[in-house]
Amino acid sequence: MARLKAMPSRLGAMPARLKAPPKRAEGFYQSAEWANYRRRHAAWTREQKGALWCARCGSTHRLILDHIVERRDGGPDFPPFEGAEWLCAAHHNAKTAAARAERVRSGGA
Ligand SMILES: [Zn+2]
Repeated sequence: MARLKAMPSRLGAMPARLKAPPKRAEGFYQSAEWANYRRRHAAWTREQKGALWCARCGSTHRLILDHIVERRDGGPDFPPFEGAEWLCAAHHNAKTAAARAERVRSGGA
């Protein structure tokens, strides 16, 4: 009986976790192809620069591989390695926001 009693509260906790996150990541960035590209790009970058760090500030924390020309702006999914760079979360967010602002300014969505 105690076991059954415990269930509702566990189930009750689930909806919060199932709620859609504020911003759902695009399927592309979950793909095996992208994971593979990131891995190869990281190896290439380490070879070029000795380590991975943010191209803007040098941070090594929470790095994101960024499309220099955003895919939304017509950049290829898998650019030549020179066409993508590692950015920290702060710089990646700033760059993404700037690109979005530029699209709005130029009449895009
Ligand atoms: Zn940075």
